[in-house]
Amino acid sequence: MQSGGSLLLISLMILDSPAYAKNQTCEDYAEIRKAGHMTIGVSFDIPDPLIREQFRHAMDFWATVLDMEWHSDETSSCAIRVGYGVPEMFDSDDIAQADDPDLTATFRGEIAFNAAFAITPLEAYLVCVHEIGHLLGLDHNPSPTSVMYAVGLEGAEKLEAADISALSARHRMRQWKDAGQHLSLEFPVGTESDHSFSWRTEQVVTELSELGTKSGAGVVR
Ligand SMILES: [Zn+2]
Repeated sequence: MQSGGSLLLISLMILDSPAYAKNQTCEDYAEIRKAGHMTIGVSFDIPDPLIREQFRHAMDFWATVLDMEWHSDETSSCAIRVGYGVPEMFDSDDIAQADDPDLTATFRGEIAFNAAFAITPLEAYLVCVHEIGHLLGLDHNPSPTSVMYAVGLEGAEKLEAADISALSARHRMRQWKDAGQHLSLEFPVGTESDHSFSWRTEQVVTELSELGTKSGAGVVR
């Protein structure tokens, strides 16, 4: 009877979790909630090379902002898993969604993309930055020029003062002691082996919309 009950429990857990390719969750997701130095393993459980590459660039971006480092980790000791979600997870205009670290019962460090959405490299980059921002504890910012704005990221978004303030309440920042700065995002130009994109802290909105095209006002959750 004991083993039968366990089997039922395991079956329910599998049915309950988002259906990713491996159906395997990361076990080190608590790392993403740490205030101090974070060492984050990322499981790339998604076949799309565009999303994989831009997710790497987005992790590189966050590693310039926060006291963290990251690496690929396809074992269960990963902290973040990026994959495709099942269609039922999304409204028709949802590009992606991320677990909420404040919902501790369900948080597993997962970011799910909607396979029905075709996105440009720039959109993929911004959506990855946005969704990782959610995993790090950021909520949506009502300012349309924040990368944490919910709708239609276009390329001129940045981490705004409110985002930086919220981040610094949860995590150790690399250099932003106060929240008076904006941090512009710059689309990383280069190959997978070239992660040396630049970033700036000037209060300047970069003209990134010239670098990519927009394919509609998708919602990023
Ligand atoms: Zn969002």
